[in-house]
Amino acid sequence: MISSGGQQSDVFRFADEIGPKKIVAIYDPSCGLKAILVVDNVAAGPSIGGTRMAPDVSLEECFRLARAMTMKNAAASLPHGGGKSVIFADPDMEPHAKETLIRAFARAVGEITDYIPGPDMGTNETAMAWVHDEIGRAVGLPREIGGIPLDEIGATGFGLAIAAEAAQDHAGISLKGARIAVQGYGAVGRHAARSLAERGAVLVGVSDSQGTLIGKDGLDHTALEALKAEGRSVTDAPFGTTADRDAIIGVDCDILIPAARPDVLSSDNVDLLKTRLVLQGANIPATEEAEIQLHQRGVVSVPDFIANAGGVICAAVEYHGGTQSQAFSAIEDKVRDNTRTVLERARQNKIRPREAAVALARERVLSVQKLRRFA
Ligand code: NAD
Repeated sequence: MISSGGQQSDVFRFADEIGPKKIVAIYDPSCGLKAILVVDNVAAGPSIGGTRMAPDVSLEECFRLARAMTMKNAAASLPHGGGKSVIFADPDMEPHAKETLIRAFARAVGEITDYIPGPDMGTNETAMAWVHDEIGRAVGLPREIGGIPLDEIGATGFGLAIAAEAAQDHAGISLKGARIAVQGYGAVGRHAARSLAERGAVLVGVSDSQGTLIGKDGLDHTALEALKAEGRSVTDAPFGTTADRDAIIGVDCDILIPAARPDVLSSDNVDLLKTRLVLQGANIPATEEAEIQLHQRGVVSVPDFIANAGGVICAAVEYHGGTQSQAFSAIEDKVRDNTRTVLERARQNKIRPREAAVALARERVLSVQKLRRFA
């Protein structure tokens, strides 16, 4: 796109050797739909990435999320590139209006076949069923139409436990008896806690948006799951001691799993951490400064797009018609191999695991691009 002055439009400000291939602005005055789709890279295959519904997202954020999906999908060697879409709207709007917007969005992207929508903040498997109904493609579908419900089966939490297995030697710990603390006891956190407990780890701290629960001798994860299923907080448990929400950061443990919000580990609190291994369940849970400080202290931190790739691996298996057990086995293979490779390269090259992970993903994207005429 060239502006009237002959200058390149600002829309190309993100362009580099990977992408973005396409940025599409969508407007439908008949229903008030405003949306943006960024297809970042499709060298390995059609892009997969969530459809986020929120009133306050930006083009910049959409691009960064699309790029993160390119890296995540490439690191996992999936036959998919990365993309992301945002619908500018309040996700808590009246249900009928929400369905109208999502169906209109689906029709608008129907012919952009190098993008496969998935659930994200503000959308869910029902929304993906509407998208699928309109255009015949989406991931994160309900089980009734061939979906593998990744949050219900705990795909991402299972992947975190596999990452822990692969990282234990690097962090100088043994999973058997390892003390774990989990920030955020939602779809990711509670399944990670269960999968790790099944491997002999002991849950010594958990938190949710209401507070932290600590139990040095171990917390019963089954009882905590039951509490959460009733819509209550982990702090309502009749065992353990409670503390404020952010106290989870300083819990004495061997493995800390941030599985709630971005940027929760920063240079303001990173000194409080008493752990050997951080498994990044949430997306970007640590700032770059925090990651640098952790690395300097010898704390191993497995980056988000390596450790939490279980969800998208499951989505890709679903898209290709695979079963739940095939999804688990793909997660196990890919997350184990990638965690080992990234930590090994970080050690050999004396760089942070994130630097090693970014280099690995870029290499994979660029090498696939060489096989394509036009990516
Ligand atoms: P969720 O909504 O199911 O659970 C989030 C949990 O975090 C809830 O228990 C909530 O009470 C708690 N929480 C919110 N703010 C908190 C805070 N400040 N301190 C402590 N706890 C807090 O969400 P989820 O699906 O488990 O996702 C968690 C994170 O992992 C998000 O960043 C998400 O983007 C990322 N992620 C999720 C998946 C997936 O498969 N669901 C995959 C990759 C990454």
